[in-house]
Amino acid sequence: MTNIEWTEKTWNAFVGCSVLSPGCTNCYAMRMAARCAAFGQQQYDGTTRKVNGNTVWNGQINRASDRKVLEPLSVRRPTVWFVNSMSDLFHENARPEWVREVIDIMSKTPHHTYQVLTKRPEQAERFFHEDSDVVWPDNAWMGVSVEDAKRLFRIDVLRRLPGRIKFVSAEPLLGPLGRIDFTGIHWVIGGGESGPGARPCKVEWVRELRDECQHQGVAFFMKQWGRPGNNPLASECPAGTKLADFIKTADPHGKGGAMLDGRLWREFPD
Ligand code: SF4
Repeated sequence: MTNIEWTEKTWNAFVGCSVLSPGCTNCYAMRMAARCAAFGQQQYDGTTRKVNGNTVWNGQINRASDRKVLEPLSVRRPTVWFVNSMSDLFHENARPEWVREVIDIMSKTPHHTYQVLTKRPEQAERFFHEDSDVVWPDNAWMGVSVEDAKRLFRIDVLRRLPGRIKFVSAEPLLGPLGRIDFTGIHWVIGGGESGPGARPCKVEWVRELRDECQHQGVAFFMKQWGRPGNNPLASECPAGTKLADFIKTADPHGKGGAMLDGRLWREFPD
């Protein structure tokens, strides 16, 4: 299982990545990969290195064991899988045959739903151009991460990719996105950053995103505020009470709470 609120299970057919844009700076998977390697999980060997005492991805991608790669084939219960939470399916160093293998398994398991989220939609476009025989199955949702206004171009590329359901993850949201054209987009996830070094996420950025979704008929899922200080309820914390404790009681959802304007936003696409 996973603690990601918008999915059921993670499926990592290969692991490893490299930092691409500001949303990657505090990549949770990068730290986790180093820990997994230290605990002897061989598939993570060589995927990270230390730079000035900090762990960073080094761009090496390793295929997981057959048992892990083939796992969805043996699960009969319809399950929602987040694909490659420890990598990017369309990373430039991922071997095309590995990507084809993932697509093949998704095609062979139409009882499951797969959520593919990439920061590299241009690379995905190249993949489909070069592998024009590949058929992307309807049970695989295609999504892009958009952490700030500079990354809005990824939505335009997403529109050109295959996928019955297309989605945008604005998490961690690092700045205002402004007016967005969500034509052809079915689902938007928003949220603030959590963990060590988490950056601020302002309520007006999330509210604006939610409003854009509502105006354009797009399902909106607010995952979490990340830091208790990002939560708009923080201003109601009584003097003498620890903010984290107050938020845990007032809004016990996700990390740092998840309520916006008095309610949870946990919509899914049809
Ligand atoms: S693309 Fe995703 S997995 Fe890769 S470094 Fe960025 S946040 Fe981490």
